[in-house]
Amino acid sequence: MLSIKLPDKVNYIIDVLTKAGFEAYAVGGCIRDSILGRKPEDWDITTSASPDQVKRLFPKTIDTGIRHGTVTVRVEGEGFEVTTYRIDGVYEDKRHPKEVTFTSDLIEDLKRRDFTINAMAYNEAQGLIDVFGGIGDLEAQRIRCVGNPYDRFNEDALRMMRAVRFGAQLGFVVEEGTKEAITGLAGNLSEISAERIQAEFVKLLLSDHPEEMRTVYETGMSRVFLPEFDRMMETPQNNPFHLYNVGEHSLVALQNIRADKALRLAMLLHDVGKPECKSVDENGIYHFYGHPARGSQMVRAILRRLKFDNETIDRVATLVAWHDDRPALRDVSIRRAIHRVGTGYYPALFEVKRADVMAKSPLKREEKLRYISEYERIYQEILEKRQCLTLQELAVTGNDLIQLGMEPGKEIGEMLQALLKHVLEYPEDNRREILMELAKTRRKPE
Ligand code: ATP
Ligand code: MG
Repeated sequence: MLSIKLPDKVNYIIDVLTKAGFEAYAVGGCIRDSILGRKPEDWDITTSASPDQVKRLFPKTIDTGIRHGTVTVRVEGEGFEVTTYRIDGVYEDKRHPKEVTFTSDLIEDLKRRDFTINAMAYNEAQGLIDVFGGIGDLEAQRIRCVGNPYDRFNEDALRMMRAVRFGAQLGFVVEEGTKEAITGLAGNLSEISAERIQAEFVKLLLSDHPEEMRTVYETGMSRVFLPEFDRMMETPQNNPFHLYNVGEHSLVALQNIRADKALRLAMLLHDVGKPECKSVDENGIYHFYGHPARGSQMVRAILRRLKFDNETIDRVATLVAWHDDRPALRDVSIRRAIHRVGTGYYPALFEVKRADVMAKSPLKREEKLRYISEYERIYQEILEKRQCLTLQELAVTGNDLIQLGMEPGKEIGEMLQALLKHVLEYPEDNRREILMELAKTRRKPE
């Protein structure tokens, strides 16, 4: 019934180690994924050989994490991590435990692993080694700790995020006892570095079940690294256009968009400004004036705190800032909108707008979708006509203006902006002669 097929290169490494008198198995995520019929991302090997012994047996190796027993063995240009059986000490800030002890016992190595489904080993001679009921949990579609969950999460708090992330990736549920332990220990996540949290958070968002962010909230983990999301979950929207509270609406929106890092982050956080911008009118209806701009500022602070790269921060903050922008459906208004938002954020912005509309009540939904389609159609037409939308595309440059005797610096900057403004209105005027003429006549008297 098991259909594990190790790649030839993995079998070769296991063979070399075995013939030299050591034990060796493929282990962890690759075995889990093979059994599930998913394609493993990488193949990890665990062995009784010490790192030095591994290095002596293979011509090409790299000391990847030699202190923790990991050597990368290169086989025809492909790298495989080979790690000595070990017992972990307490985990420190980074990916690795502070100190490890090597052991000759495979079972000890499997015991240190986080979840039963990640604690299975396999080779062709011995078959599957599953001492913690990993197969049973794969069949039951369940994430369960190896051993006592409280102990395991106290050793390494990041495992709590990993539990929910694996659940989201595989469509599994976190077993009750494991979930209870997470709820009890969620606060410990504050000891984990932003980088490690970010990695798990992104994997969860890019999974098939990004709405598992709800479990991150329910267990108390988001309160530690994303308290803004807790406020969203606790902000109702008493408004005929909405069915859910701000957080639940965002979770639905998140499911409506493809698995791209910036897009998923943008959907999760597009309304993050709402709790702060809430007002109530005389009919008791809630409004959230100004929430896109406020949200965009908050997004920058949140993503910086979680140590995201600047490109991601810019993308997400921009998409959030304009998610509710509604230019008039005229060429000129849309050219101005594209200029204002930035050409690089399209067509992503249309995806964001659609995912948002689809997560609201059906009231006027068709109308809103038609609006977005029309916006996109005009946008496409503008692109096809290659109309000028940026300073780079303007038919004159700063140098041209210097030739007219203008001062480099502020004067030229302002003139270029004025010309661009003109061209956004009259795209056919984007020709050098016309713009030079305009520049001459528009030039302010000294
Ligand atoms: P993926 O690569 O898809 O994230 P994976 O299961 O391969 O999944 P890795 O983070 O690559 O996860 O780790 C490889 C293996 O190492 C895991 O399957 C698990 O056995 C073990 N492991 C990783 N991180 C931890 C941890 N924090 N605590 C205990 N065991 C861990
Ligand atoms: Mg892996």
